[in-house]
Amino acid sequence: MSAKKLLIFNWKMAPDSLKEAISLFERTRTCADKTRNHAETIIAPPFVYLSNLSKVKSSLFGRSPVGRQKSKVALAAQNVFWEDSVAYTGEISASMLKDLGVEYAIIGHSERRKYLSAEGGFASGGNETDKMINKKILASLKAGLKVILCVGEPTQRGQTRTERGLTRNIKWAKNYVKNQLEKDLKNLIQNLKPKTQNLIIAYEPLWSIGTGHSDAPQDAAEMINFIKNILKAKTYNLKPKVLYGGSVNSKNIAKFLKHPEIDGALVGHASLKPKEVKAIIEIASKMC
Ligand code: PEP
Repeated sequence: MSAKKLLIFNWKMAPDSLKEAISLFERTRTCADKTRNHAETIIAPPFVYLSNLSKVKSSLFGRSPVGRQKSKVALAAQNVFWEDSVAYTGEISASMLKDLGVEYAIIGHSERRKYLSAEGGFASGGNETDKMINKKILASLKAGLKVILCVGEPTQRGQTRTERGLTRNIKWAKNYVKNQLEKDLKNLIQNLKPKTQNLIIAYEPLWSIGTGHSDAPQDAAEMINFIKNILKAKTYNLKPKVLYGGSVNSKNIAKFLKHPEIDGALVGHASLKPKEVKAIIEIASKMC
């Protein structure tokens, strides 16, 4: 049997109320906990809900006293700041998150990164540079949080004609991602010697996020293999899980997860639809 697939549900800036957040969390965790040998499941709600959801998470799962168990679903923050104390109004530190029982932090999501465009960038959040992302990763690992680092190229790959016909040219995309990894993971090994399970990479081509246009599964698998080879090499000597993210839903998830190199999926919009979540968890669990 292959290793368990990993699912990360990123709620982005939704839902609008705590009541809805608790309901969505309960539905997701019930589904994960009830599915036999379920895929590892992580939920990333907005900051404001983390405290309450952490309490809900540690309450016992299951109605009957027989077979009651602790939920195995974990919580992730969608962002974190690199400094640890005081004069940073509006920021949240890794130690605050740890204290709440949050296990993971998503770092470098494309909606927070600075991507240069003709307009000078279109990040909705922090206009984050690789340097900032690097500081966030180092601070989080040091504080004992596990890191989900998002990388991915900004524009859709072109197509090139080869002897075998038309293929999508992923060479420049690979260079782009290699560059991101080198900058984002700078000084990682010298400073922290991270354990493999403390670092997860999500390959999320920017053009596929929230667009309904997912990557071709074989292209995603090729890129993920490439990322794994970079991290396996001497400089890092790491074998992290590498996931695919970008318009994943219940209709296409199996096509990604059937590739052994794709260790799971980071799901955005579909994570707000309980029926989709249920189907995604059930499909991924069958592929563990
Ligand atoms: C994401 O939020 O990282 C994501 C992949 O979103 P979506 O599934 O909506 O493309």
